[in-house]
Amino acid sequence: MGKIHILEEQIANQIAAGEVVERPSSVVKELVENSIDAGSTKIDIVIEEGGLQSIRVTDNGSGIEKEDCELAFLPHATSKISSSKDLFQIRSLGFRGEALPSISAVSKMSCITSTENTGLGYKVVNEGGVLKAVEETRASKGTDITVKELFYNTPARLKYVKTIQTELGHISDYIYRLALAYPDIRFTLTHNGKTLLQTLGNGDLLQVIAAIYGRTVAKAMIQVTGSNMDYSLSGYIAKPEMTRSNRSSISFIVNGRYIRNPFLNKAILNAYHTLLPIHRYPICVLHIQMDPTLLDVNVHPAKLEVRFSKEKELMVFLEQELRKSLQKQVLIPAAKEPK
Ligand code: ADP
Ligand code: MG
Repeated sequence: MGKIHILEEQIANQIAAGEVVERPSSVVKELVENSIDAGSTKIDIVIEEGGLQSIRVTDNGSGIEKEDCELAFLPHATSKISSSKDLFQIRSLGFRGEALPSISAVSKMSCITSTENTGLGYKVVNEGGVLKAVEETRASKGTDITVKELFYNTPARLKYVKTIQTELGHISDYIYRLALAYPDIRFTLTHNGKTLLQTLGNGDLLQVIAAIYGRTVAKAMIQVTGSNMDYSLSGYIAKPEMTRSNRSSISFIVNGRYIRNPFLNKAILNAYHTLLPIHRYPICVLHIQMDPTLLDVNVHPAKLEVRFSKEKELMVFLEQELRKSLQKQVLIPAAKEPK
């Protein structure tokens, strides 16, 4: 007799969840990215105890249709792509259809959603990947998801979770990046009742920079813009005298996605060259737009790493544009502020 059998869906989802849901911040990331994909202009994130007790994300986006409410929690269920061709021109943050089934497999999750302004919607309750209820309820347009008792059924994973402060650090770091990526969206982040971030959602990136790094940093920023056939660049880089001891204040946003990339980091450091003291790093928020076919985002489940098809060209472009902006600043110092 053969020994192989296909795993039950619930166990399969728990295994898959290990890849997507590493820690509380992964849940926050996936939920907020869904809110962004849903066209929301306002996203509120409320965290209790570093996300271990509860994570709540409320948006005013498109909402989920009644017919899709159950489907959305099944693996590989997505409204964002449909053919393999789509995989090479992704415009949304999500596309794998893995987040909701993965999160619900390792938590107690409730989702209230409505696609209309009628005041009515649906509530879907999931526990450990098992659908508990779908019922009609009062709801405003958008989606309101609460995730409680994360990893309650995966004790091994729970052991890897660090202190509340560390987990909160990961959460706020990612929300800051998303806020920098979407200055048009009003974000609030609250932890244990304390507001950690509030952006205006008026499209002003410098306002978001001020909200995250403070007004002194915002005042020391140089605006950059530039474009060529393939890329268009916009954002802010700090004057060389405003530095940090590590690279964590460098944010790249490529086609609306916050990414990490050592080559782009290198291009920035090359542009500053000798302007930076040794072992000091700048504060930069750079938005890069390119044709989605020049970019492979399907490299890693968290999609923080991407592959550029013309990496070298992108590096050269970035370095040149930043150097131009820095040179202008150094040659023509800003007028002194009146006393
Ligand atoms: P993906 O984002 O890769 O499509 P998810 O598991 O994260 O997969 O979500 C499944 C589907 O549920 C999405 O494709 C979308 O249609 C729907 N959905 C999830 N969150 C929201 C939300 N906040 N607003 C509207 N629709 C949502
Ligand atoms: Mg998603």
